[in-house]
Formats: sequence, structure tokens, C-alpha cells
Amino acid sequence: MINMAKPVMGEEEKTAVIEVLESGILAQGPRVKVFEEGFAKMCTTKHAIATSNGTTALHIALLAHGIGAGDEVITPPFTFIASANSVLYAGGTPVFVDIDPRTFNMDVSKIEAAITPNTKAILPVHLYGMCCDMGAIMEIAKKHGLAVIEDACQAHGAEFQGKRAGSFGTGTFSLYPTKNITSAEGGMITTDDDIIAEKCQVIRNHGMRKRYYHDELGFNFRMTDVHAAIGNAQLAKLDDHNNKRRANAKFYDENLKGVVTPFVPEGYKHVYHQYTIRVPNGQRDALREYLKGKEIGTEVYYPVPIHQQSFYMERFGSSQTLPATEAAAKEVLSIPVHPQLSQTDLETVAGAINEFMAGK
Ligand SMILES: *Cc1c(COP(=O)(O)O)cnc(C)c1O
Repeated sequence: MINMAKPVMGEEEKTAVIEVLESGILAQGPRVKVFEEGFAKMCTTKHAIATSNGTTALHIALLAHGIGAGDEVITPPFTFIASANSVLYAGGTPVFVDIDPRTFNMDVSKIEAAITPNTKAILPVHLYGMCCDMGAIMEIAKKHGLAVIEDACQAHGAEFQGKRAGSFGTGTFSLYPTKNITSAEGGMITTDDDIIAEKCQVIRNHGMRKRYYHDELGFNFRMTDVHAAIGNAQLAKLDDHNNKRRANAKFYDENLKGVVTPFVPEGYKHVYHQYTIRVPNGQRDALREYLKGKEIGTEVYYPVPIHQQSFYMERFGSSQTLPATEAAAKEVLSIPVHPQLSQTDLETVAGAINEFMAGK
């Protein structure tokens, strides 16, 4: 079976975890601090704040920016549910803007029409490992006085015009096992802003500045030193992992036929959290079945856009149509691109897809 994801766990991770267990400091401690410093350096930001997962990173970041009841946050509907749910956790309302069908990211030309007097923030998602058009997004945010919270949960090390994902606004990352690097579960917030960084640290730890004095409602969204130990070992491997993903993607770009391969505009560095093709003529599900029969794993990210999830339709109504998103949900297929694939694996995957698309 050629799987969609296979976390790389080496001796470094194993040794690091044993060291934590023997150290006696298990919860948030010195290894979290080292991880935060290393992550900030990778992301080229002044601060990084480690959290229990990517969803709590988003939740904290929104609270730190003061998002609450009555506030609207502009975000795409073509993403993992956590991007929009985090806005609901904070008490705000997600406002969905359609995607650019070529990049699968938020269509920046549609953002301004969605701005109302209640809009407080834009929450772009760097889907599949490629940045949104952050030049346009930062300009719109500046013009309208909006905060920018980047969902960079799939984009560790990705770049827009030489600048890293998570370093434009307040960045949020996931370290779930399928992501480009992992700490088992874990998340990270990145920022250059001293005040936002301090707020995030306080919200993460029960709203506590002075021990057992609680100025505000906070949470326990901390990372443990066990997870940070794994994260530190993984961080050292990020460039290597991303280079392998990019090389795998290049092979597919050059060899796949009959499907639409990822579009990477000039000035973007894609890190291929996913390699996602579009399968034309309603053949996506049949191709998926065909590949399954050949023991090739695939996944559809995401079959149901968030504005069409039952819970969202109950809450916000079902009248909104977002054609580019809805079309993409029917056509996208992500194929294995992780760093542990062999040349034979790549040839097997490409061969099977080409065979199917050529009519077998
Ligand atoms: C993985 C992911 C998240 C959530 O991260 P968790 O660590 O699973 O909580 C949020 N947004 C996107 C786009 C993701 O891919």
C-alpha cells in the first residue's frame, strides 16, 4: 500500500522523548521554549508561542486580536473545518469568500465586497502548502484596518515573494502527524508583535499573568515538553522534508497526463503539504476507486465546503453559493507526495493515473 502520509520518526525523536521522560519535567518546560525559539527562527518572526494543537493556536490568535461576539472574520470555505470553527469558538461569525479555482486559495478580488462595518479580521488559509496572495491581502487589511490571522497549518516553510507563511500577520500552525513536520499533536502561533505574543501566552495558560491571579478567561492550551522534544527533532528535518516533497511534486508535474496539476504562480514557494490534482469530466471518484484497487491511497480535501456542512447550514442558512469552491470539492484529489516515497512509488502512482485517464 502506498499511503497518503507516513511520519518520519528517527532515533533523534526517540532519544529526545526518553530524555524528557527521565528529566522529570513533563508538561510545558524548557523544551517548549527551545521549540518556540527554533520555530520563530524558521518562520523569521520575533515570537512563537507553542500550543496544544493547530485549532487551539487559531482560537488563541483570534482571542488575542479581540475577536468576539458580533465580529465578522473573512475566510475561505474550502479548508479544514477548524479554520472556521475557531471563529465560532471566539464568538465571531465566519464570512466566506470563494476561492480562485487555479490556486484553491481565497480569491483576493472578492474580499473587499465581503467587508462590512462588523468585519474585524481576514483569516486566509494557505491551502495544500502554498501561500495566498499575501501582497493583496495585507494591502486590503491595511486599507480597512483589519487584523490578519494566517492559517498556515499546511504551510510550514512556504513562501510568498521570499517571505515565509506565518510572518505576514499572526501565523498559526498545526503539528499533527500528517503535516510537514509533527509533534504528534501540537500547534504554534507566530508574530512580530510583542503585545499579541504576550496575550497569546496568557490566554494559553488560564489567563494567568501572576501565579493564581486570573485577569481574564483563559484556557489550558499548552504544549507538553514531550511533544516539544519530538517537534525539535522534526524542525531540524523540515527543509529536507520540504525539498523531498517538492522533488516528488516535480516528478508528478512532468509525468502526469489528462489531469490538472497544481498551478504555482511566479514568486510562490509551494511546500506540497498535499499534491492535489483536478480530475475532469466527473471521473474523480472512479479514479480514486481505481487507485485504491492498485493499493494507492488518495484523499479528497475537502468533499464538503464549510458553508455546506449541515451544522453551518442550520446555523447560517443554505442560500450562499460559492461556485469555484463547490466545483473544486467535486474535482480535487490529493495523491501521495510525502518525503518517504521511493522513485518506484512515484512511478507506480503516475503510471496508474495515466493508465486510467488514457481509458485503461
Ligand atoms: C490541520 C489543520 C488545522 C487544525 O490543526 P490541528 O492540529 O489538527 O488542530 C487547521 N487548519 C488547517 C487548514 C489544517 O490543515
